[in-house]
Amino acid sequence: MSRYWSDIVHQLTPYVPGEQPKIAGLVKLNTNECPYPPSPRVLQAIAEQTGEALRLYPDPQATALREAIARHHGLKAEQVFVGNGSDEVLAHVFMALLRHEAPLLHPDISYSFYPVYARLYGITTREIPLDEQFAIRVDDYLAAPANGGIIFPNPNAPTGMALPLSEVRRLLQGNRESVVVVDEAYVDFGAESAARLVDEFPQLLVVHTLSKSRALAGLRVGYALGHPDLIEALVRVKDSFNSYPLDRLAIAGGVAAMDDVAWFEDTCRRTIATRERMAAALRDRGFEVLPSAANFVFARHPGHDGAELAAGLREQRVLVRHFRRPERIAAFLRISVGTEEQTDALLAALDTVLAR
Ligand SMILES: *Cc1c(COP(=O)(O)O)cnc(C)c1O
Repeated sequence: MSRYWSDIVHQLTPYVPGEQPKIAGLVKLNTNECPYPPSPRVLQAIAEQTGEALRLYPDPQATALREAIARHHGLKAEQVFVGNGSDEVLAHVFMALLRHEAPLLHPDISYSFYPVYARLYGITTREIPLDEQFAIRVDDYLAAPANGGIIFPNPNAPTGMALPLSEVRRLLQGNRESVVVVDEAYVDFGAESAARLVDEFPQLLVVHTLSKSRALAGLRVGYALGHPDLIEALVRVKDSFNSYPLDRLAIAGGVAAMDDVAWFEDTCRRTIATRERMAAALRDRGFEVLPSAANFVFARHPGHDGAELAAGLREQRVLVRHFRRPERIAAFLRISVGTEEQTDALLAALDTVLAR
């Protein structure tokens, strides 16, 4: 605290990301990073930008990247907005499209950054509880009083559970007066993307990241897909904040990542295969594992406390994520899908901890 702080700083409750400890030999399954290195083509494209070109500012519109993303989704570049990670894209979305008189709706168990942005921008929110099976229930959103916007991850985080595209469509059909943001950070691991609905619904914004399914959490690239009017709102905020959120390395690496379809499909396939093996092995050990369409699983053990399990695993040099709140998920562990070897290490560590 300092008397030099502005009023708003006193009122902030910042997001706390998963730890990035520097412990040798750690099996790091706490932040849903990809366990495999990025496409070699990405590394090559970045290397080509590390010379004399760094003297010059990057393209403020990141046109080459927006075109590559548009190609991938069968959309036009004017339907694409890019930012410094999807967290930055989301921040601009809150400011540009979700700040209205009526409250923003989001699931009670969801990405914990949403309430942080809402607080930063003075947006009131209404939490809509997940159902008994931890699923998003579209009818509850349609039954709520007037809203200033709706946001949810699909698959949801930290549950990993996907909402079928037919349900997303039903939500859009019943909610045309405010923006619906579908945060698809994990969609490539088995859910149906709403990107194909963008031409049909002018109130839909779909947000993606290169951090998970393209192994580029360190490069900081995210994007939004939507009607050009929604994109223009985001550009107006961005150009009032930072003209160059993506540097030359991020633009070049991002283009190469979007274009290397073979690497992308192979990596998603491997991740899904390991996830299914890990989920089955956890169930064999007595865990209840929610059905995951993401690169992590959310699981609880009837005989064990979530915080104690996470601490026990940490002693065995395996890092997983545990959320104390809300109370309803305090028994769960969120475990990222690692390599086959990391999965074996996780299971061995769990056997040690469960045997105590
Ligand atoms: C990881 C994640 C993001 C943020 O991704 P970045 O692009 O790395 O900022 C956004 N939303 C959800 C639900 C996530 O899990």
